[in-house]
Amino acid sequence: MSHGPITTRTTGPEATRQLAAAVAELARPGDVVLLAGDLGAGKTAFAQGFGSALGVGEPITSPTFTLVNRYEGRLPLHHLDVYRLDRLEEVSDLGLEEFLDEEGVVLIEWGDRITPVLPADFLEVRITLGDGDDDRVLDLTAVGPRWSARRRALGAALAPWATAGGSGDSGGTGGESASC
Ligand code: ADP
Ligand code: MG
Repeated sequence: MSHGPITTRTTGPEATRQLAAAVAELARPGDVVLLAGDLGAGKTAFAQGFGSALGVGEPITSPTFTLVNRYEGRLPLHHLDVYRLDRLEEVSDLGLEEFLDEEGVVLIEWGDRITPVLPADFLEVRITLGDGDDDRVLDLTAVGPRWSARRRALGAALAPWATAGGSGDSGGTGGESASC
C-alpha cells in the first residue's frame, strides 16, 4: 500500500502547533513520528503542539543537548533530537526500544537520519520553508501499517491546512489555506 504525502501549509508557529495537535488526537500507544526539516523549520514547534494536545503540562523545549526528554500526558511522550548523533550505532544508546515497549509516543527530530535503524512503521512530517517568512509546508507521509490505517482520519483532521494540490481528505473546506 503506497500513498503520497498529505501536503499542508501553515502561516505561523501557532498554526503549526494547532496542526500538530490535530495529529496528536490520532496518536496511539507505540506510535513513532519523525520530524524532518532544516534548523528553524518548526520541528520543535510541532512537538510543542503535539505535546500539549497529549496533555503535557510543562513547556516542551528542544532536546538538542539532552537528546531525549520524557513528558507525562494522556500517553507518555518521548521527545528526541538526533541532530547530534555522529553515528547510527549511537541510536542504541538512546534506549529507543525501551520507549517503544513503554507504549508511549516517540517524536524524533531529525528522525529521517536514522530510518535505517528504526522499524519501518512511522509517520514522517517533513517541514520546509514556504514563500513568506512564517510560511511552512508540512508533508505528512504514513510509512508502514500503523499510520497507513489512519490515513483517512489523518486527511480529515488535516483538512483545515491542506493545500489545494495536496492529497488530503477530499471534500474538506480548507479554511485559511485557499490563497497562495
Ligand atoms: P526546529 O526545531 O525545526 O529547528 P523550531 O521549532 O525550534 O525549529 O523553530 C522554528 C522557528 O520558526 C521559530 O522561531 C518559529 O517562531 C518560527 N516559525 C515561523 N513560522 C513558523 C511556522 N509556520 N511553523 C513553525 N515555526 C515557524
Ligand atoms: Mg528543534
